[in-house]
Amino acid sequence: MSQNYVDNVKVCVRVKPIQSGESKRCISAIPAQNSILIAGKPESKVFSYDMVADETVSQQSLYQSIARPLVESFVNGYNTCIFAYGQTASGKSYTIQGEGVNSDQLQPHHGLIPRVFQSLFTENGGLLNNLTTYKCTLSFLEIYNEHIIDLLEKPTNIQHPLPIGGTQGTSSNLNIRDDNTKGIYVEGLKEVEVKSTKVAMGLLMTGMHHRHVASTQLNLNSSRSHSVLSLHLESRVKDEKTGGSKSKYSRFNIIDLAGSERQKSTDSVGGRLREAGNINKSLTVLGTVIRALVDLSKGKPRHIPYRDSKLSFLLKDSLGGNSKTYLIATVSPEDISYTETLSTLQFAHRVKNVKNIAIINEE
Ligand code: ADP
Ligand code: MG
Repeated sequence: MSQNYVDNVKVCVRVKPIQSGESKRCISAIPAQNSILIAGKPESKVFSYDMVADETVSQQSLYQSIARPLVESFVNGYNTCIFAYGQTASGKSYTIQGEGVNSDQLQPHHGLIPRVFQSLFTENGGLLNNLTTYKCTLSFLEIYNEHIIDLLEKPTNIQHPLPIGGTQGTSSNLNIRDDNTKGIYVEGLKEVEVKSTKVAMGLLMTGMHHRHVASTQLNLNSSRSHSVLSLHLESRVKDEKTGGSKSKYSRFNIIDLAGSERQKSTDSVGGRLREAGNINKSLTVLGTVIRALVDLSKGKPRHIPYRDSKLSFLLKDSLGGNSKTYLIATVSPEDISYTETLSTLQFAHRVKNVKNIAIINEE
């Protein structure tokens, strides 16, 4: 076994179609060169990535380029991760889960999650069925204001995680653990075994419904929460040394991040102030972790502050470990979104410079 820094973190920028024909554009995608030009004042800038998807790229085509190779790696025992970053309404949820997900038959607007399920369980009998023995489970959580909410549990069991307006609520908080064998996991989180697309889609729907009910009942703003759907795979593989078999664990995290826009100060009153602060904390710490990882990739010794927020701790394996990770940064092309779009392009550019450690198994 040897360790190497490799380019396992890839970045795609996806441009959302322009909503109103009247709007002026501030960016042009140059997909053939994997570049984006952003027209600014006083100067224009060009950023390059591993992939640039303009508005003509379909859900199916994006899946084939980005997620399908990760699904294969996951089945082969690698940790994999996809996360969507961008301002509210730039297309994160459209990309991650898509629309029409109440049908378990594949639809054109289905996003990455339903397509991952299709490949694992349905397409040509399902990739997982190539494994002799396996157990695949699914969990689904939301991080809101540094609290973890289990989306597979009924929202009636969720107590208010936020002390809004000075009322002290009881926490429904779950803790994250770092285990030598299992890696990062959330203690007490519900994990349901899945063997079919139908069951997996049912769990996706349940989680989305619980998220909606919880946010309505508790008056939460869902654009300020991060949702994490994880598939956990345990497969039995032959142990060459002993002739017996051993377990191999892998995890696939699919993450829809909170809107990356700066919180408006008018919202920052009472309980809302704390909410905005914590959401910023999660995304700010993510930014700090990324900067530290970039330094580390350049050979500078750095402490990586994974544990400073729930989100970065949960992403520890995905960003710094033996994981294949794809960031999809979503941007709106309208002139009015210039500042947020530029900030997203810069974040995505930093992430492109992260190289994580690959354990090369020379069996
Ligand atoms: P976010 O999750 O970032 O807040 P959404 O995914 O909800 O944003 O997208 C906002 C709106 O834009 C939705 O109505 C969605 O259907 C539409 N949209 C986003 N991206 C695309 C795309 N690539 N193609 C077509 N419609 C899109
Ligand atoms: Mg969304």
